[in-house]
Amino acid sequence: MYNIDLQKEKKEIVKRYRALMRAWNANKGVQKNNQVRKAFIMASQAHFTMRRRTGEPYIYHPLEVARIVAGEIGLGETAIISALLHDVVEDNPDYTIEMIRQKFGDKVAYIVDGLTKIKDGYERLESTAQVESIKKMLLTLSDDVRVILIKLADRLHNMRTLDSMPASKQQNIAAETLYLYSPLAHRLGLYVIKSELEDLALKYNEPEIYRTISTKLQETEIERKSFIQKFIFPIKKAMASQGIDFEIDTRAKSVYSIYKKMQVKEIPFEEVYDLFAVRIIIESPLEQEKIDCWRVYTLITDNYNPKQNRLRDWISTPKANGYESLHTTVMSPTGQWVEVQIRTRRMHEIAERGYAAHWKYKQQIDKDKAQESGLDDWLAELRKILKSPDANTLNFLDDIKLTLFSDEVFVWTPKGHLKSLPSGSTVLDFAYLVHTELGNHCIGVKVNRNLVPLDHRLRSGDQVEIIASKKSIPKEEWLDYAITPRARYSIKEALKEQRKEQATEGRLQLEETFGKHDFILSKNSITRFSEYMGFASPADLFYNVFQNKIPVEEVEKFIHLEQNEIHSQTGTYNRKSRNESPDLPVKIKSRQGVTYDLEELDFGIATCCHPLPGDEIIAYTPDGTKWIVHRTNCPEAIELMARRANRIIHASWGNKHMNTFLGGIKISGFDRKSMISDIIRVISDDMHYNVRSFHIDTSGELFEAYLSLFIHDTVDINRTIEQIKQIEGISTATRMLKFLKT
Ligand code: MN
Repeated sequence: MYNIDLQKEKKEIVKRYRALMRAWNANKGVQKNNQVRKAFIMASQAHFTMRRRTGEPYIYHPLEVARIVAGEIGLGETAIISALLHDVVEDNPDYTIEMIRQKFGDKVAYIVDGLTKIKDGYERLESTAQVESIKKMLLTLSDDVRVILIKLADRLHNMRTLDSMPASKQQNIAAETLYLYSPLAHRLGLYVIKSELEDLALKYNEPEIYRTISTKLQETEIERKSFIQKFIFPIKKAMASQGIDFEIDTRAKSVYSIYKKMQVKEIPFEEVYDLFAVRIIIESPLEQEKIDCWRVYTLITDNYNPKQNRLRDWISTPKANGYESLHTTVMSPTGQWVEVQIRTRRMHEIAERGYAAHWKYKQQIDKDKAQESGLDDWLAELRKILKSPDANTLNFLDDIKLTLFSDEVFVWTPKGHLKSLPSGSTVLDFAYLVHTELGNHCIGVKVNRNLVPLDHRLRSGDQVEIIASKKSIPKEEWLDYAITPRARYSIKEALKEQRKEQATEGRLQLEETFGKHDFILSKNSITRFSEYMGFASPADLFYNVFQNKIPVEEVEKFIHLEQNEIHSQTGTYNRKSRNESPDLPVKIKSRQGVTYDLEELDFGIATCCHPLPGDEIIAYTPDGTKWIVHRTNCPEAIELMARRANRIIHASWGNKHMNTFLGGIKISGFDRKSMISDIIRVISDDMHYNVRSFHIDTSGELFEAYLSLFIHDTVDINRTIEQIKQIEGISTATRMLKFLKT
């Protein structure tokens, strides 16, 4: 319980305000701070009687958000003031944007207004509203990126204090954080914030897993540190003798990224070999940076052998989010691969703090390069997608996700300009990137002087030349070739234009057909015929006429019906179902915030993650009657929670421990005589489980086996895994989430 002690609280508020000033000071040096103080006073008054869920005074929250903005992101006065005021207008009707404008000017008013309009998705029930709010946020982002940076700080503080939320809400908030906010932080280059958001999300989504990994990290810390000390000793010595001013940073990876690696590679913690990277940060003047970094590279590879093909030069070609660094992987004397990252102080700051630091240094870099920086391109790209008027909101989110997550390929134009595209992009994407008209009229493409098909995927370093003809127009199948939002949007627009022309043609044809039967088509009869044929709109009907897809018999039948007036005055024809997927009415809103026992539901098990009793789960309904149970950390579930929270409930297994479920185990080891029968014996004779499938791959002396069996819960599967590990010759046994075809 939180005990209210007003005297103590007052002291704490002042303490936190001072912490904010210190954070600001450390980064920029406080200029005149009376505006910030005024904002602090206004916020304190506006939230005076309010408390957070924890019971603490509300003002703690804006103060903390402002401190993150000043210290961890490194923004200045305008952003700090806006952060302090971000909840004022929303929470207290006595305060308006106008008041803020009068006291703090247009900029602050604009940002606070933007922040007030962004509602967190989890507060809404409708999935479209959720996505709509996200879209609005990104719209604002393209005007002033500080809105999104403050929003990220807001989310970070809410995640840090998530304990006070009810458990069911925690999971939705955590899912939304993973789905939207950590990718955004990543794209903006806020590496530290991104990692913390991911770790916190995992902590609430999969508490057990989070605890296990962080405990293991702690347990292995001493051993890791002594290894690193030995490893860096000769490098340190070499650098010191060369008079290089440096610092070495050897933090471990985040819990979340370790967990991801374990999942992707299906390996246990013990087999994640790159738990840390060695970062060498050197002091170097701007014009010397590149040569100094390569000098350090030479010193390292003088001492250790580098792994082939693991050199990454992000200095010559920085990533789109501004990241610059030199990466190499070398062999340590004990036979372990170690990743070494070499960067200057400036590069390090950009890597950690991203956009803000990028801004700070931007003036120093030559102007052309600054203008071509990937982030500006990205913002321009976002703005373009956002402007498309009728973009289906859910598809829109996919487009954004594509832009957010993908890595890039770099290719050259015939004139030697470098262009970057998401990896997986095709030559058609490239054509549209250069110019929409070039894309629309593209008939052929040469990559490195050879003719290639339009769906040819680009690789970094390719030189690409587009051949265009005025007569050529986009075709339907181009949508299968292009993956970038820009190209797909342009193709859809062009096809829509074509369809319009074809529909006009179709309408004329239809009038002619009906005319032959002495039937004059009125606007109403067109609507009725279109419904009769099962089309969503007359435009679709006309288009199908143009495509010759309407049989004459249907026209005759319809005319017969019309003339006999079989349809009543008010009635309409039943629609034939034709590629329609109406949003089914789902009345489960009252279920929000409650945990449901699976006993009460008609449910099935999701095949993407195969949950077992003991796993944290949610249930999703596509139609309001049947439920599909996923693990809360299943990527599909995370997406569903973020997008369709209104169709998700939090579920518990109840008495389901009595039933059996399918569990999967992946095993590897040395093949020997009777290995299979030993495994089967452990499972069916010793543990009495029924094996459903057993698949084994051998190569030389090694084997890999995939096993699915009927068990009760996670306790069973963990015990089985432990038993299998005892068998002679087994090197790993882990739980499988996705099964092979069974
Ligand atoms: Mn807030």
